[in-house]
Amino acid sequence: MPRGVQGKILEELAQRTEDGDLSALSLLRAEPTAQIFLEYRIISATREADRIVSVLAVEAKGGHEHRFTGRMFIDASGIAMLGVLVGAETLFGREARSDFDEPFAPEVADDMHHGNTLFFRTRMADEPVPFPAVPWATEVSKDYANLSGQLVQPGSDNGDGPRANVNPDDPTFQFSADPSQAWMMQFPATHYWEYGQWLDPYTSGEFVRDYLMRALYGTFSNVKTMEPEAYANLEFDWMAFVAAQGEFRRYKGDHILTENDIRNHTRYDDLLVANDGFFCIHCAWAPGEGKYDFRLKDWIADFRDQEPYGIPFRCLYSANIDNLMMAGKHISVTSVAASSVKFMGNGAQHGVAVAAAAFLCNEHNTTPRGLLDNHFDKLRAMVDGLTGHRHDMTNSPPTRRFVAVPS
Ligand SMILES: Cc1cc2nc3c(=O)[nH]c(=O)nc-3n(C[C@H](O)[C@H](O)[C@H](O)COP(=O)(O)OP(=O)(O)OC[C@H]3O[C@@H](n4cnc5c(N)ncnc54)[C@H](O)[C@@H]3O)c2cc1C
Repeated sequence: MPRGVQGKILEELAQRTEDGDLSALSLLRAEPTAQIFLEYRIISATREADRIVSVLAVEAKGGHEHRFTGRMFIDASGIAMLGVLVGAETLFGREARSDFDEPFAPEVADDMHHGNTLFFRTRMADEPVPFPAVPWATEVSKDYANLSGQLVQPGSDNGDGPRANVNPDDPTFQFSADPSQAWMMQFPATHYWEYGQWLDPYTSGEFVRDYLMRALYGTFSNVKTMEPEAYANLEFDWMAFVAAQGEFRRYKGDHILTENDIRNHTRYDDLLVANDGFFCIHCAWAPGEGKYDFRLKDWIADFRDQEPYGIPFRCLYSANIDNLMMAGKHISVTSVAASSVKFMGNGAQHGVAVAAAAFLCNEHNTTPRGLLDNHFDKLRAMVDGLTGHRHDMTNSPPTRRFVAVPS
């Protein structure tokens, strides 16, 4: 479910139909001025000086190519895809603590990122269900036999699952190293099935997905073989074949939002929308360190003061491409700040803000930076009206928070 700041538009888009689908598409289709191109992948872009001229997209099914020209471009790919294609300045991995004086940053900068997650669900059938030997899978899963962290239904994850012969000394069952977070130790979180944090996310996606599948098939096989009577009827109900991708590359804008900006609620003059949510930091095993490296080593959930914080407009446009703005987890933030900004509700607020900014840039024939210098009050008033909350957070924005309940 979308966490972070909610609001009028998001609440409409996030409604689910009876099939579990989001209402977003049917609402967009009803918009007379919107054109929708589904299942197209942007594969290249042209740039003249500091402006993007066009993007080239290929249709996944037919292979047809379409070139789209435009005056303003908004990247909501979550992976700074357009920026990578046109040479926009970006940030990757984790910054060093000394770079921005962030308490949660590591001493030394590195390329670790969030990694990918595979959702799945098992169920007990009415009769025994055979399962073949999967040596290619147990090669990855080894003797791991805990299927907790399942998707219960669309929008509801972290379900429990079969655990066979659990060894209490197994470090992967001690999920949090921090004793004050002891409630997490038995927390069956979906995202503990996570891998790829040290690999190149642009080129390793299928490898990571397959690795997680091998982990899951192997674990499933272990559960069934270790307790054959208890789990004779166990079968896979569903497994995703596209992994959920975490944050890794961010744009560099005219400002980079940091952990301290979020904690201190820094009141920049160009605050445009509110965001909210905890610092949700996924800590992977170092390469070669964990026996079960497809399960997360640790998870830091810092709820800070549970108050919303502001996003400056300067975090929503590229530092070196004049007609490029961004929304979502890849806006201009540090790795630590991204762990809170990334929530879906927050990204929706960036989306509303940059859509309004693009409209006004066209109206005034200017760039986002020009808008900031000359028409910012107009932009702010428009965005306040669209989001339904004030940029200075004097009327508290509606927020959906993660609530930690000790078991
Ligand atoms: C396992 C997991 C669980 C999570 N749980 C929650 C939760 O409960 N609540 C919450 O609020 N957040 C949750 N998050 C975080 C949140 O889902 C993401 O941070 C958020 O979806 C990021 O939004 P985004 O729009 O930036 O990117 P995305 O949601 O990744 O959307 C980017 C879109 O761009 C498309 N795209 C990428 N490249 C191209 C290209 N070249 N051409 C065309 N299209 C392209 C992608 O296919 C995708 O549809 C979770 C994340 C993970 C990994």
